[in-house]
Amino acid sequence: MTDLISLEKQHLWHPFTPMQAWCDEDHEPLLLTSGQGCKLFDQHGHGYLDGNSSIWTNIHGHNHPTINAAIQAQLTKVAHTSFLGFSHEPAIQLAKKLIGLLPGSTLTRVFFSDDGSTAIECAVRMALQYWKQNGNPKRKTILSFDRAYHGDTLGAASLGGIPLFKGSGNEFGYLTRRVADLQVLEQMNSKQTETLAAVIIEPLIQGSAGMRLWPTGMLRALSSWCRERDIFLILDEVMTGFGRTGTMFACLQEAVVPDFLCLAKGLTGGYLPMAATLTSERVFEGFHGHDKTFFYGHSYTASQLGCAAALGSLQVFEEEQTLEKLPDKIQHLSHELQKLNRKAWVSEIRQCGLIAGIELHPPSNAGVAWGAHVCVSARKYGLLTRPIGNTVVLMPPLSSSLEEISQMGDAISKALNEVIPS
Ligand SMILES: *Cc1c(COP(=O)(O)O)cnc(C)c1O
Repeated sequence: MTDLISLEKQHLWHPFTPMQAWCDEDHEPLLLTSGQGCKLFDQHGHGYLDGNSSIWTNIHGHNHPTINAAIQAQLTKVAHTSFLGFSHEPAIQLAKKLIGLLPGSTLTRVFFSDDGSTAIECAVRMALQYWKQNGNPKRKTILSFDRAYHGDTLGAASLGGIPLFKGSGNEFGYLTRRVADLQVLEQMNSKQTETLAAVIIEPLIQGSAGMRLWPTGMLRALSSWCRERDIFLILDEVMTGFGRTGTMFACLQEAVVPDFLCLAKGLTGGYLPMAATLTSERVFEGFHGHDKTFFYGHSYTASQLGCAAALGSLQVFEEEQTLEKLPDKIQHLSHELQKLNRKAWVSEIRQCGLIAGIELHPPSNAGVAWGAHVCVSARKYGLLTRPIGNTVVLMPPLSSSLEEISQMGDAISKALNEVIPS
């Protein structure tokens, strides 16, 4: 084991991780070796509840027999074939299922990619190219919101509002503009709005901003604002999709159907990297004509194994009535969060469905990563999660039992007791 750890420190480089501290002699990284339901096990056999659903991806728990079987069955046929010039049944079945999750026949076209960032890039490129080749080349600005997070590739990062995640600015032939809220949009004149290709937003809740909720009704009002001006609405449901907020998609809570719906993290139940950008027939038809091809895609587009896993996950939604069971779990999480709210240093708790952000406001902030301390301490009490700054994130898999949700709350409570000096 010590050999593995020293190899790890010699050769690996982790995302969003200060590597000097990681490689410190005193730091023993957890190697996660197996999972069962909401639990993950490390190299020493210790079990932990997966309190952030393996970075917001897991839906039905780990090692789920239905999803395993779906992947295994596909594996006996073929793992991956090119989607450039060919098609296959798992992609066709999955597209049909995804479209069926939205009302009527509003979004009818599915473009597959690999992760949240590429799902966003795809929507942005489609929106820009659509206007360019359909008589409205002035529309080349993508509008996004302060503190938004839409992914890490340069294109997706150029839309983000979190300075830490910013790329090197914007040299991609399109413009971005960021605003604080809907009020700013409402004050824009037609000269400003007629250059907008699309507005992009994380509906109901901004994730990487620290789990910040939009006011109720904001999404609906934004959608009307876009419709009135014929500006595309891109919904980034990379985090909120697949039941996270209590409904299959967050937009359903405000009866909004966007022009582009970007899905990734939970699409395969958290098993394999895969993403989808759903759009309307209107957008699709804007690409008819030999000189209007959408020149975009990746080697693993519509991976057969990924499609099989996603179909397996959607099957579990039906078999286990995952959505029907959510209201009790969401309420139970609220109840657990209320207990945490009484703790010293907890300044605010935000919740949307099975997503929670517990914000700490330590008296002296000076350079101490309190959120990280709390999360590391929570491991002792059987919980894995990861903070965003001083906000501790709790995002249980949708399959968590009420008891597991309580255990997660208890672990954070004990970690707070340990970290906060009395
Ligand atoms: C995680 C996330 C992304 C980026 O997804 P990746 O799979 O990490 O590229 C984009 N938008 C939101 C809202 C996310 O939470």
